[in-house]
Amino acid sequence: MVAQVLDGTLVASKLDAETAERCSHLTARRVQPGLAAVLVGDNPASRTYVASKARACARLGLRSEVIALPSATTTAELVALVATLNARADMHGILVQMPLPAQIDAQAVIQAIDPAKDVDGFHPVNVGRLALKQDGFVPCTPAGVMALLDYYDLPARGRRAVVLGRSAIVGLPLSLLLLHRDATVTVCHSRTADLAAAARSADILIAAIGRTALVTEDFVRPGATVIDVGINRVTTREEVAAYFGDDPARLADIEKKGYTLIGDVHPRQAAARAGQVTPVPGGVGPLTIAMLMRNTTLAAERACRQ
Ligand code: NAD
Repeated sequence: MVAQVLDGTLVASKLDAETAERCSHLTARRVQPGLAAVLVGDNPASRTYVASKARACARLGLRSEVIALPSATTTAELVALVATLNARADMHGILVQMPLPAQIDAQAVIQAIDPAKDVDGFHPVNVGRLALKQDGFVPCTPAGVMALLDYYDLPARGRRAVVLGRSAIVGLPLSLLLLHRDATVTVCHSRTADLAAAARSADILIAAIGRTALVTEDFVRPGATVIDVGINRVTTREEVAAYFGDDPARLADIEKKGYTLIGDVHPRQAAARAGQVTPVPGGVGPLTIAMLMRNTTLAAERACRQ
């Protein structure tokens, strides 16, 4: 069996087209959705993520403002900045890029964000609303995974879903979303005994653990839908050969950038067993940004209604 590849870039472009249209309606009413992205310190991955979010804003017609702060910023300074952004009518969404430097109390910062502007869906009020199936903001990566399942008409109802990872950003909210769709959900984590056996029971297997290709063929039930949320790097030709065979695009990545991206799922082994797989890159990643744009536009629409 060769698995169908679920194209996150394609689904993201469809979501983006809807968002751009909603955005242009708002802008015609003189409310251009605005996203404030706060970047603390000089983590290169965070800088890349924030830049790509700002580019997506520009592409879809949202306004964005990137506020870069030094690594020595204190919790109090960041909370004060968030308070000024909460008060600005032109900024409908506030995003504080994680991870924050160790001296900052990330929870205090998240809790300082007005829940109505918390487009990442990390504020306890939005987490509670999600748990209770009420309207709020749903974290972008889990929302993107659900959009992908919907687009490809892969229903969760009555199926066994296994989520590897229980983080507040991905695993936990995704398990709630799947539960709300009537899946029978198992959440696994670093203390789970016999992870492969638990994973093998899944009709829908979600890998969100941050471990290179940990999900091998013995984790995958034949025909299962395997969604790879992980983003990891491999840097050697030997690893490329083990995971991707002699794929020239991957070897070119190593030559050009010194690395190539890989998820938590072994790409060749999963593709040989699963019914559907997501690629890395080009799977869940583009959907995360598309959902951030959608949440920010939704925040502006809600602000208009008040
Ligand atoms: P995290 O480190 O916060 O959480 C990892 C989770 O995996 C934890 O619950 C931990 O218990 C579990 N885990 C770790 N090692 C394990 C093991 N050996 N066996 C079983 N469980 C294990 O990570 P996160 O923020 O949830 O991110 C997970 C991965 O998803 C990372 O690779 C991250 O880069 C990626 N990610 C991708 C996107 C995207 O847009 N595609 C968005 C967010 C995160």
